[in-house]
Amino acid sequence: MSDATIIDGKAFAAGLRARIAEAVPAFTMATGRIPGLAVVLVGDDAASAVYVASKGKATIAAGMASFEHRLPADTGQEDLIALVRQLNADESVDGILVQLPLPKHLDEQAVVDAIAPDKDVDGLTPISTGRLALGLPGLVPCTPLGSLMLLKDHIGDLSGKDAIVIGRSILVGKPMAQLLLAENCTVTIAHSRTRNLKERVQQADIVVAAVGRAEMVKGTG
Ligand code: NAP
Repeated sequence: MSDATIIDGKAFAAGLRARIAEAVPAFTMATGRIPGLAVVLVGDDAASAVYVASKGKATIAAGMASFEHRLPADTGQEDLIALVRQLNADESVDGILVQLPLPKHLDEQAVVDAIAPDKDVDGLTPISTGRLALGLPGLVPCTPLGSLMLLKDHIGDLSGKDAIVIGRSILVGKPMAQLLLAENCTVTIAHSRTRNLKERVQQADIVVAAVGRAEMVKGTG
């Protein structure tokens, strides 16, 4: 794929963080407080601990308040949901992230469902996913939203493009497809049962690989 360009996602992210930081004073002026993000981590999964730490760092770097709640791995369902409800009611908390995956004994969907939709910054509650499907304003999962931002920054108008999204998870594939549809792309959603994937990928203008396997799509071959 000789004409391929690697998009500098880190540079774009740095610019985005700077723009977010610039918006914080206006929020503070309007509300009399700085915006706050609460992150909940249950257990001691190493990768999750790294994500939570970097989210906290980025939040503070943007001039916002970060509230970290680290709970033991054996935290019960009711205690976790009680914390989520407490954060829902806390006026200093504007966004709530419950770091997934949760330990096996917890019901992830029930915990996510307990998050107030207007604080659901991961965009995973049924209300958020419903708003996205209906084309209403709402909170959208960050990975597909970031991917869309990069695509628009790089390509410009996406209208009329043929897009294929490989993967149909609620976290990446499905919201990615909805976002591309809202940009007037013609969207195909592929998954593990899709036939003729190679041909479909070759025909697309935009390919979003959300499979969880490196180099599943390797350029034109
Ligand atoms: P997931 O829930 O495991 O979903 C993977 C999807 O890929 C499924 O829909 C699956 O199809 C499909 N798939 C698997 N093998 C396939 C094949 N051979 N051909 C076509 N489709 C195939 O993963 P996810 O949570 O959506 O994550 C996707 C990727 O995004 C991962 O690489 C993950 O690490 C990355 N991710 C990154 C971030 C970030 O912030 N950077 C956040 C979240 C995810 P079925 O539905 O038929 O099983």
